[in-house]
Amino acid sequence: MIPQKNTRLTRTLLAIDDFLFATRISTSTVALQTRVTVLALYGITLASLVAGPYSILKDYDAGYTALAITTSVYLVILLGGVVLFWITRSLTLARISVTIAFLTLLTGITASQGGPRGLAFIYIISGYAALYNLLGFKVGLAVPSLVLLCFGIVLAADAYGPLSVFRDSELRVIYTMIMLVSTVLGTFSVLYQHLIIKKLYTAAYTDELTGLPGRNRLEQLIETQIRVSRVGAHAFSLIGVKISEFSRINSFHGSMYADMLIRELARRLNAEASPRHKVTRYTGTVFVVVVRSSDTQDVAELGRRLLDAAQAPYDIDGEHSFIQTSVTITRFPQDGREAQTLIANLMASFSRAGSSPGSLSFFDGRLFQVERRRHSVLEALHKAVENSEFELYLQPRLRLSDRSCDGAELLLRWRNPVVGEVAPDIFIPLAEDAGLIGEITRWVLNSAGALITTLQAQLGADGRGFIYSINLSPLDLSGLEFMAAVHSMIERTKLPTSSIEFEITEGIMMDENPITHQNLDTLRNSGHRIAIDDFGIGYSSLSYLHRVRAHNLKIDRSFVQRINETHKVFPVVDAIISMAKSLQLDITAEGVETPYQEQYLRERGCDLGQGWLYARPMTSYDFIRWCKQHSAANMSVG
Ligand code: C2E
Ligand code: CA
Ligand code: CA
Repeated sequence: MIPQKNTRLTRTLLAIDDFLFATRISTSTVALQTRVTVLALYGITLASLVAGPYSILKDYDAGYTALAITTSVYLVILLGGVVLFWITRSLTLARISVTIAFLTLLTGITASQGGPRGLAFIYIISGYAALYNLLGFKVGLAVPSLVLLCFGIVLAADAYGPLSVFRDSELRVIYTMIMLVSTVLGTFSVLYQHLIIKKLYTAAYTDELTGLPGRNRLEQLIETQIRVSRVGAHAFSLIGVKISEFSRINSFHGSMYADMLIRELARRLNAEASPRHKVTRYTGTVFVVVVRSSDTQDVAELGRRLLDAAQAPYDIDGEHSFIQTSVTITRFPQDGREAQTLIANLMASFSRAGSSPGSLSFFDGRLFQVERRRHSVLEALHKAVENSEFELYLQPRLRLSDRSCDGAELLLRWRNPVVGEVAPDIFIPLAEDAGLIGEITRWVLNSAGALITTLQAQLGADGRGFIYSINLSPLDLSGLEFMAAVHSMIERTKLPTSSIEFEITEGIMMDENPITHQNLDTLRNSGHRIAIDDFGIGYSSLSYLHRVRAHNLKIDRSFVQRINETHKVFPVVDAIISMAKSLQLDITAEGVETPYQEQYLRERGCDLGQGWLYARPMTSYDFIRWCKQHSAANMSVG
């Protein structure tokens, strides 16, 4: 059981807010009503402060002590209401104060039989309008009408003293008429609001299927909790219950069954959470329970019960089924100080690996940072091409036999002013998931064409016969636009196709998409070279290797890096080299970092190498300098 931490007052206030809310109309009406209410509150207070003291003094002088006292009390309560409103921003509290203030005043007027100047009468008429606006809801129907009715009866009975303005018979008729008309109008307008517009409200704030409060109402409920917590440090939590793979239920049992299941789930959640906790339906498959506690153990316990209830087998119309759900929790104030933040964090917590089916987790701020970073990187990535944030770096590739340069691999770099520099290992998979890789590859091809042309011009004899490698994502080859981009690059630059090598990963070889293989054939037939990148870590298979008919096989860095002086034998590297030799492929070792690795590879017959031993990836400017220095040094050694 979750211990009752809220005071009686808090609960009463919450109940009143719930009750008043139940007839509010639409968000825009509420906003308007709120503005009117605040204005009325300030207006009445100001008017009362100006007229009140004068009236109190006069009434007191004339011997109407009760009226003088009640008017003073009225003023104090009204001011108290304004202060309370400033502190809490709670209109409910303001409304309650104003109502009490008016009732006090009315008691005074009635007790004093109308008072000498009937100044109070002005309060009543203006007060009626104000009350209507301030309450404007269910109570709006009852209180002002009742008050006016009572007042009308007193007037009709001619019960006021000789000094009262209400003694004037002509005035009395006018007052009675005004009161009659305003009672009828007030009753009619409130009834209208109640009967007709409530339907609209219900549609906007209630989930039709389950009858539970919906998304908009959840936000309001949380805001109320936040306001209450300001008055007396009450913490609360949100427990989210999410169904995964609900489409399975829809497709196997039909949507009618799925609806019934959701209704049953709502019933179970409601039964498990006591009435103090509000169960709401946030989206089709996410329920959120507002729990009036933030004690880790208590909330986790309730979360666990909700999870068990949701996961218990369902037997609907004789059909058995089960659903997978996960539960996650955000707490106020540590996980967010606003309704939107708390909900957003709850949802973020769901989309994390931690919230696998059947699990219960608390929102974790650190994981959230990772998630947020991912999100901002993804957002930035959408504009990266447009904002020209990419650059191509080059890493030289050397012949192991004489360390002469054979060309370079083009490696993409991305620097964004907001998220900083992001490694391709991070953003390439993100771009693939987000469907942005095609655009990025088109940029790479375009820029590579221009870059290689410039390099050839600048390097002259030093760069003759260089082969430049471009990395491809498996997704690139599966579409037709890719080939068009390659053709246009070649047409524009007139580069020999044999000077451009495309690096594909083993995964592509497994691809059964005919377009992928058609594209690979076209690339090869137009004279381009194909390299198998990261060889050895994926589904290395001889038959696939044969099918792709690549020119170059790149041994993955992880194998090369295992080569060291202590072990001496590296069967996997040996096997890859001998296999590639038998298929008459070039062999490139990636990530060569030590002279020993170079020597080992050279002795086994590996043709090419790239790695930090020779050079790190660098800008085209540095690459030109590096090439010139390197070829001069190599000449003098040779
Ligand atoms: P990759 O194709 O295997 O590229 C080689 C990676 O190894 C590069 O990382 C390079 O900087 C790094 N490297 C080179 N020599 C050494 C070494 O001696 N030691 C170590 N530890 N690392 C070395 P980078 O540039 O961060 O690229 C990472 C991956 O991102 C690439 O792996 C490639 O899969 C992908 N990538 C890079 N540019 C592109 C591109 O233009 N298009 C596509 N689709 N993918 C790209
Ligand atoms: Ca590569
Ligand atoms: Ca590689």
